[in-house]
Amino acid sequence: MAAQLIDGKVIAKAVKEDVRARVESLKTRGIRPGLATVLVGDDPASHVYVRNKQRSCEELGMHSIGHELPVSTSQDELMALIERLNRDPAIHGILLQLPLPKPLRAEPALYAIAPDKDIDGLHPFNVGRLTMGEPRFVPCTPAGVMAMLDYHKLPIEGKNAVVVGRSNLVGKPAALLLMHRHATITVCHSRTQDLAGVCRRADILIAAMGKAKFITGDMVKEGAVVIDVGINRQSDGKLVGDVDFDAVARKASWITPVPGGVGPMTIAMLMHNTVLAATPSEQGAWRPH
Ligand code: NAP
Repeated sequence: MAAQLIDGKVIAKAVKEDVRARVESLKTRGIRPGLATVLVGDDPASHVYVRNKQRSCEELGMHSIGHELPVSTSQDELMALIERLNRDPAIHGILLQLPLPKPLRAEPALYAIAPDKDIDGLHPFNVGRLTMGEPRFVPCTPAGVMAMLDYHKLPIEGKNAVVVGRSNLVGKPAALLLMHRHATITVCHSRTQDLAGVCRRADILIAAMGKAKFITGDMVKEGAVVIDVGINRQSDGKLVGDVDFDAVARKASWITPVPGGVGPMTIAMLMHNTVLAATPSEQGAWRPH
């Protein structure tokens, strides 16, 4: 392998150590950051994700309360819980685990979360702030991507960055974050023509499409930095990314693995955002020292 590995576990640990220190400092001021998780239904993967987030919270000395609602929960009941958590002074961050089971609608529930408790950064107020280049809560996965680039001091300014995927959760905020750091951005999606040609122009390639091993060696420029956001479970149970790791690692200069890449960063950034929510005077995303 020619590429150097960007190890999400190592960088996530550094972020969490910062969070732990900030939690200790807040405690001396009588503040204990609190996260409320809201999980509706019985999707096993969502249960695992939520449990991991709660466990991380507790490991770092934060307070975490889990709300597990049955699949029969109505939209009004969900909204009422969110309103209650908005008013609860012990709760600084509210995490609504997605996807919601049908027929519940995610948007009204996400928009009901108080913007200053919106640690996923999905409320239109926080999306607007991010768009303006003055983010308070940055969505955790793209924030994790930026932290990985910054941890290794990989240059962003002036680079051609290609983001494959335009979701509100990953692709769009990743593109905005890179643009605010003065990269030249191309955002690709399912209607993009000559995806391979566009990707080959990337100095920084972010794959966030949810298609196993879709980005092959011939789609990547020699020396590119490749960040693989995708998490796909193969029929043999193995997790793989959107990037064909072995082939792309022979051409890239830096690459993230799956698992152990962006995944651990997402939880670490959620912890960062929760501590940020308990520290109203502070702004923005985690940056390495
Ligand atoms: P999503 O909402 O399904 O969006 C996928 C995006 O990829 C869409 O914009 C779609 O285009 C685009 N796309 C799909 N097929 C394509 C193709 N053949 N060529 C070009 N673009 C294509 O997914 P998401 O929530 O952004 O997540 C993306 C991936 O990241 C998934 O594998 C997910 O599991 C993973 N993920 C990982 C983490 C983590 O912590 N590591 C967190 C979140 C998500 P259209 O808009 O045209 O449909």
